Order: sequence, then structure tokens, then C-alpha cells
Amino acid sequence: MRADAIGEEVRVAGWVHRRRDHGGLIFVDLRDRTGLLQLVFRPDEWPEAHAAAHDLRAEDVLCARGRLERREEGTVNPELPTGEVELSVAELELLADADTPPFKIAEDEPVGEELRLRHRYLDLRRARMARALELRHDVVRAMREHLNGEGFLEVETPFLTRSTPEGARDFLVPSRHQLGSWYALPQSPQLFKQLLMVAGVERYYQVVRCFRDEDVRAERQAEFTQLDVELSFVDEDDVIEAVDRLLAAVLAAAGHELALPLDRITYDEAMLRYGSDKPDRRRGVEISELSEIFGGSGFNVFANVLAEGGVVRGLKVAGELPRRRFDELTERAQGLGAGGLVWAVVEEDGWRSPVAKFLSDDEVGRATAELGAREGEAILIVADRAATAARVLGELRLEVAPAPEPSAGHDPFWVTDFPMFEWDEEAGRFDPLHHPFTAPLGDLDADPATWRSRAYDVVMDGWEIGGGSIRINRTDVQERVFEAIGIGGEEARARFGFLLDGLRYGAPPHGGIAFGLDRIVALLAGSDSIREVIPFPKTATGTDPLTGAPAPVDEAQLRELGVALRRPSEKR
Ligand code: ASP
Repeated sequence: MRADAIGEEVRVAGWVHRRRDHGGLIFVDLRDRTGLLQLVFRPDEWPEAHAAAHDLRAEDVLCARGRLERREEGTVNPELPTGEVELSVAELELLADADTPPFKIAEDEPVGEELRLRHRYLDLRRARMARALELRHDVVRAMREHLNGEGFLEVETPFLTRSTPEGARDFLVPSRHQLGSWYALPQSPQLFKQLLMVAGVERYYQVVRCFRDEDVRAERQAEFTQLDVELSFVDEDDVIEAVDRLLAAVLAAAGHELALPLDRITYDEAMLRYGSDKPDRRRGVEISELSEIFGGSGFNVFANVLAEGGVVRGLKVAGELPRRRFDELTERAQGLGAGGLVWAVVEEDGWRSPVAKFLSDDEVGRATAELGAREGEAILIVADRAATAARVLGELRLEVAPAPEPSAGHDPFWVTDFPMFEWDEEAGRFDPLHHPFTAPLGDLDADPATWRSRAYDVVMDGWEIGGGSIRINRTDVQERVFEAIGIGGEEARARFGFLLDGLRYGAPPHGGIAFGLDRIVALLAGSDSIREVIPFPKTATGTDPLTGAPAPVDEAQLRELGVALRRPSEKR
């Protein structure tokens, strides 16, 4: 419906977006997925259609036949692709009536999320959401086209399966045929994709739903979509290079150009400089190591921490902070587990700080230079165990660093060289930082705390958008890793016997990665929650206001599954 079709007789159908009654003439903006078209109803020329148009309401569905005309001088709308034309309607047919919607489709005004989700079919009509669906489609298409072009095979894997330990709780499904036995919904297709490498597929991908029973957050849903990828005969560089090309293709589909290769920083460097393994580098501000500068400090707090093997690190805050803010930040630091927070304001001849009198001019001068702080700027310092200092300064950085400039674009990069495990204080055991199928590096006879892993993440704009690793392809190594996390031989056989068996029959070296599709699309759409780009998401409590899921089921259904419910009071 453009100027070149003027004079033609056409038939269109869609929803009433807006209706305007201008005394004689009635105008309707008709909407379909491709956009808007102005209909005009003229009482003198086609009185019947005009009379019928009186009763049209927002969101009615109609079909109109008429003549495409050039809009009158002065009424052309340059904002619309169809802005030069209008359809003069000869015949109107109402295809479906619409009740008054609970919120306006034509306006992008704030609406409560519960209401939006309850009427998601209306919410998805709104321009922003319709664009999100399209962007999601474009991203997935770019992924598929790129991977197909590089010889990958898309292969499906089961949803009704056994538990895959990705670190979350499983969703369980009772078996009707084997009462008392349960399927687990996959937290990822990890083990199947590895077995596909044993099967000789060599290059696999799948756009696949994963299920993790964990709390919903801005970047998390219990049910989410991954682009899952695995390759044989590769090392880290091969995977990273293949993914660089893939990401460039995906971002190009959303109109962003990426300079390759993407940066790589190590986990240690990320923790030191940003106090996070998924930093938003666009926010500037970096953390500096000050331990050496304060090595011989007369300030007891620093001296004691350093003597116990801790660190002194700090960051500078661009611009001035009021006194009150330092108190808030100190409280925040303590809430995060730091003993305290040292703050200072750089002045012409030294620091204004509650601890200034304990510090030498040399320390102050060198620390100021290391932090790159200028007169009037503030400095925040944490002295603590390395992990605590990193975490606390990482959080403080997020509080004080400016938001990225709108022109900053996206910043995807790699984080590599992860430790293999982290110590779970509560459970009293090692937990894999990635998952237990990741190939370890280092002396496997030494303390597992010293092992590194062949894992890598892709981080973009402060979110982890992908993670993967080179896998273990030998049974003995796999058993060693299980042992290190407290899964003994018998339990390993019971839970992962099928994998251990598979690895015995000629498993090629292999590795891969999985991307959070929802996260990538949300970032590209400029949304701060993945719920904005998932067609039918769940709320924070895991409910779906549209269908009312989860919901109770019949007693008979439970009986058939051999499941008996305890009363809520007996829950534990
Ligand atoms: N299965 C892993 C995950 O879901 C990704 C991978 O290692 O490829 O995080």
C-alpha cells in the first residue's frame, strides 16, 4: 500500500487501531502485523460503509474494500510508510467485535505486568512487543542460517529425561508406567550433546527449551531457551573463533557491527578489575590492586589484612560524593560481608579521610596515582580476603559507576581460565563453577581447589549470555571429577553410567557452548528483563496469569501416577 498503487482497487483486513470522527469524514487507522493504513469513510460517496463505520470501536476486526488514493496536501504523514496514501472505503465488513480492552493497544503507556500477562494476546499486539517477537525471530533465523552455513546439524534431544546437574533444582515428571519413578526435565541438553559427539555428529546445534526450578529474576525464568552448540576435534580457540563469527552474524541481524576477534579476559582479571565474572565494561570505573602500595603500611587495618594473605583494593568515583553517601556505601559494604570501607576525597595536599592520619604521604600519593583519581574525586578502599574484596568492590562499582552512554553500543567479550571449583561453605564440598563435564586443567593429584578448567563465558553488557567448555572425553578423568565433588563410584554409575559408558567407545575430543537466547534478544531489544522478549513468560512466583498454571489436578490423575499429596502443613 504505497504511492505506486494509487488508483488501484484493494481489499485489506485488520484491527481498528484508532478511529477519528471528523464530522463528515470518519478515519480509521487499520493495523495488521506489517503496520498501519489509513481508511477514510466518505458519507457522500459510499453512505452505507460510512454508516457502518460509526459503530467501529478500537480492536474490532474488519475487512474493507475500496480505492487507494493519494492523501490530500497537508495530511501526508512522513512517519508512516503508508503515510502518502489512504483507502477510500466502498464496502465494510465487520469480521469480529472486540470488547473494550483492559489497556490501550495504540498507546505505549505503562500497564501493570500482571494485567499484561493475563491478556498477553493483547499485550503482544502493542508495537513494542510485536517488534520484540520479530527481533527474536530475526535473531534465531540468523543463528540457524549461520550455523547451517558452517555445516552444523540441528538435532533434537528429549525433554523427558534424567537430571542434568547444571546447578539448579529439577522439575520432575512422574511416570505412569513405572510408579515411583520420575523423569527430570533437562536443565540443559549437556549430556545428550556430548553423546551426539560420541555418535559422530561433529557439529551440533539446537534451539532448545531448558528447565531449571530456580527463582525468577530479570534475567532468569524457570523455562528458558538456549542456543546449544557442540563441536568435535576442537580446543578452546576453535570454539571461541567459531562463536565470534556466529555472534557477529547475530548482531548484524539486529543492525550492530562487531569488530572481531572479541576481547578475551581471564576470570582472575575480571574479578580483579570489575569484581565480577560478568562485568559491564561500558560503565568505565575499574578496581585497582593497592596491596603492594600499602605493603608496609602503618595503618593497622591494612597491615593486618595483608599479613593474613588478604588484599587492599580500591576504586575511584568520578565526581564528588556527599558525606551521607559514604555512610551509605560503608553500610552497603558491611552488608555484603566486608569488615568496613575506607573512603577518601582527594584534596590538593592529600586525602580527606577518617584514616588519613594513619597513612604516609608516599602511600597516599602512589594510591592516588594508581587509581587515576583527581582532586575532588572520591576513593573507596576495601581491605579483606581477595574473594570478599572482589565481590564488595564489584557491587560498589555498580552503585557508583555511571550508566553506559546510549552511544556505547553492545560490548560482548570472553571470560576465560575459570577455576574448576568453588568451595560451598554450607554443603562442605566443592561445586563445579561450570558443570562437572568440563575438562579440568592442572595436577589432578593436587588439591582440587588448585584445578583450573577449560571453561569460557561470553559476557555482554553485564549479563552472562553464553557459557561452555572443552569437555572431559575420558572415563577416568570424568570419574576423578565426580570424586572431587563427592559423587562416589557407585552414585556416578547410577546417575551417569550412560555417559561413562559412552566415553568408553571412542569419544572424540569435544567442546561447546550454550547461549541464553532470551538474554541476547532482551539486550538487543534494549529491555531490562527477559520477560519482555518471551512471548508467554511466568511471573516472579513462577505462575502464568494467562492460563492460571500451575494449578491443582484431579485426585484421579494423581492416583494414576501413584502420587499422594501431603497437606501443605506437612510439606517438610
Ligand atoms: N550446558 C551448559 C549450560 O547450560 C552449556 C555448555 O557447557 O555448553 O550452561
